[in-house]
Amino acid sequence: MEVMAIESDPAERMTRMGLLNTIVVALHNFPEGVATFMATLAEPTLGLAVAVAICAHNIPEGFAIALPLNVGSGTPVASSLCAWFLT
Ligand SMILES: [Zn+2]
Repeated sequence: MEVMAIESDPAERMTRMGLLNTIVVALHNFPEGVATFMATLAEPTLGLAVAVAICAHNIPEGFAIALPLNVGSGTPVASSLCAWFLT
């Protein structure tokens, strides 16, 4: 019954979601880096295009991390720093 009480706490669930998003995004940044590197080796202009596209899609990824962490923990600065530096 103790576990049920923890899982029903919305702040706890949002914090857990933010931390899980942080781990998943951090892990998927590795193949993104490899893809950018390989594209740059094949054709530098293609590498630049891939880098710009990855930069653009990192914006919603940052929101996917920072927003649940902020809602769950109530610490907007720490949530933003987590999104900036851990992903
Ligand atoms: Zn990504």
